[in-house]
Amino acid sequence: MKIRKPSKEPPVHPKDSLLRVERIPHIWCPGCGIGTVFGAVMGAIQKSGCDLDRLAMVSGIGCTGRMAGYIRLDSFHTTHGRAIPFATGLKLARPETKVLVVSGDGDLLAIGGNHFIHAARRNIDLTVICVNNLNYGMTGGQQAPSTPFGARTPTSVAGSPEEPFNFCHLAAACGAVYVARWTALHIRLLTNAITEAMQKRGFSFLEVLTPCPSSFGRRNKMGSALDTLKFYHDRSVIRNGIDPRDALLDYDNQIVVGRFVDIERPTFTDNYEAVNLRHAMPSPEPERPQGRRKP
Ligand code: SF4
Repeated sequence: MKIRKPSKEPPVHPKDSLLRVERIPHIWCPGCGIGTVFGAVMGAIQKSGCDLDRLAMVSGIGCTGRMAGYIRLDSFHTTHGRAIPFATGLKLARPETKVLVVSGDGDLLAIGGNHFIHAARRNIDLTVICVNNLNYGMTGGQQAPSTPFGARTPTSVAGSPEEPFNFCHLAAACGAVYVARWTALHIRLLTNAITEAMQKRGFSFLEVLTPCPSSFGRRNKMGSALDTLKFYHDRSVIRNGIDPRDALLDYDNQIVVGRFVDIERPTFTDNYEAVNLRHAMPSPEPERPQGRRKP
């Protein structure tokens, strides 16, 4: 039997072409779900076959925000909560570019919440992926607008006294044309959903629940990251097409996942062009009053 000699060439992973390999190893903790979402994003980019010279990624601050530093695309790792305004400017200046926004729940929906609701209302053509790990992981696990009622964090040691946002309901109410929620367990469905969202014209939104074993998981006795994935497996219920207001995240009972919204409506750019075209048209001759003729 011939024994094949080990190759001197370093092994090449199918996603290496999308990765800034020189920046690896990454900073994410063992078991963190962000890497899984990053893999799904790269898989969706490859599946969509989009022109990589016309694709950009924008992120804010936080553990998820690091994705923009690891992807081999035109990418922008921006200031806290401002990923959407940066992405909006980029999209308006370069309308031919597909813009992906990838950030955490605190960045997008707390400090960046106002930008989020107005970008959805205006239907800016962006694909926004919110990695929801239920806390501010990078800065020590503080309470976020996603933290479940009663969950422990360093800023809610007795348990959070607040009801969290339903991000999917918020996005849909503000006018998003595509809204879906998956978890880090649903890799194939998540990859398909990101591909679909990238093909939409307008504000598309994806929420992805992910384990944060170092901060949220540890304080809330969720066990290992694998235990959290098992938790998703046992509690997730797929309900495609339901009203997002009914897509509750009730961790004691059900985690509702699925594609909730898939509609069409004019984008901000469509409306901007239509309004300016109307403005530039010469106004019609005023009609003569139909009075009595002069004798
Ligand atoms: S702190 Fe949490 S979210 Fe951040 S890298 Fe670690 S496990 Fe992931």
